[in-house]
Amino acid sequence: MSDRLPGFSTLAVHAGAQPDPTTGARATPIYQTTSFVFNDADHAASLFGLQAFGNIYTRIGNPTNAVLEERVAALEGGTAALAVASGHAAQVVVLQQLLQPGDEFIAARKLYGGSINQFTHAFKSFGWNVVWADPDDIASFERAVTPRTKAIFIESIANPAGSITDIEAISSVARKAGVPLIVDNTLASPYLIRPIDHGADIVVHSLTKFLGGHGNSLGGIIVDAGTFDWSTGGKYPMLSEPRPEYHGIRLQETFGNFAFAIACRVLGLRDLGPALSPFNAFMILTGIETLPLRMQKHCDNAKAVAEFLASHPAVASVSYAGLASDKYNQLARKYAPKGAGAVFTFSLKGGYDAGVNLVSKLQLFSHLANVGDTRSLVIHPASTTHSQLDDAAKVKSGAGPDVVRLSIGIEDKEDLIADLEQALSA
Ligand SMILES: *Cc1c(COP(=O)(O)O)cnc(C)c1O
Repeated sequence: MSDRLPGFSTLAVHAGAQPDPTTGARATPIYQTTSFVFNDADHAASLFGLQAFGNIYTRIGNPTNAVLEERVAALEGGTAALAVASGHAAQVVVLQQLLQPGDEFIAARKLYGGSINQFTHAFKSFGWNVVWADPDDIASFERAVTPRTKAIFIESIANPAGSITDIEAISSVARKAGVPLIVDNTLASPYLIRPIDHGADIVVHSLTKFLGGHGNSLGGIIVDAGTFDWSTGGKYPMLSEPRPEYHGIRLQETFGNFAFAIACRVLGLRDLGPALSPFNAFMILTGIETLPLRMQKHCDNAKAVAEFLASHPAVASVSYAGLASDKYNQLARKYAPKGAGAVFTFSLKGGYDAGVNLVSKLQLFSHLANVGDTRSLVIHPASTTHSQLDDAAKVKSGAGPDVVRLSIGIEDKEDLIADLEQALSA
């Protein structure tokens, strides 16, 4: 055995997995079972009391899901991870560990439309108050900090326009405020950006997108960087105070640098219930094996398509950080040197009607509300994902009426360009 640390592509194929000890199965089996037999009464009691690690019931953990958790933790450089049913479930479970009713968290205004909705409406009913900041204005995060601030939430590559966030600058604001930085790394995937290397304390993903990568399975994951001290100032009682549900243990004291992942599992997933199906974990694990190959092709195709659009007379502007002329190109070179992702927007000279018309003329691109599929996708955010926002908020979040969003797949780039060409000239 060499003492070389495995590289990213090797981890994408192998991390967390071993041949099945009883059957020798090489692919990770789907442990399609709700529950697991205890060795004896003492074993059962120690599992329930968190004195031993092991399987109890698939809502709390499952061996197929455990391979997925170990693999994504390895790819992101975290200490542990927790897989859940969707990206949105990951966000709820994370914030449940951090916020008490009446608390606040600061979120970048440029976010996935569903996250804007979740933060604005659903979380308000839990008493969790979102305060918006502008990811292009770091001082706006500093100004938003109050004694009730418990976390900062950003996207590494932000929806819908594929803008790049200065993770290190916002991480310093979080450090100064004594709160964790949560980074939604869905659009980048750890192949392009590893937020923990830039100061993130928690990483969340919608596995539904590039990690699963084939548009067939919902999933989400939470990665604990193991970097945050939860005992400071009694601000995070879920982690620092005795837990009545577990005989008074303190999670930070007992679990150290993976206490946050444990809290998400034993207080979040166990009690809120958004468990990932082992079948979906299997599909997503299979997807992750080819993540480095797919992601590079997604990025190379996206750059070619963005260059084509930038030179087309019907196009007013293209927002793709991989273009040398883009305002995020400096940040892209720093944070995502292998490629600036495959989700971006462009605007049409013909405005709203031209956007709706283009979407209806495209043939190879699928018109739907998803990103990160092998297939190329298109949507007009102003009439769909971002339609709940008022006009000013649409423009601020990068989804003005003339804007079309693409998620570039792994087809031949010449075919994608030909489809756009015919739709733009129709
Ligand atoms: C899709 C998405 C989510 C939500 O994930 P689901 O799996 O659909 O719940 C969150 N953040 C980003 C950036 C997304 O693209």
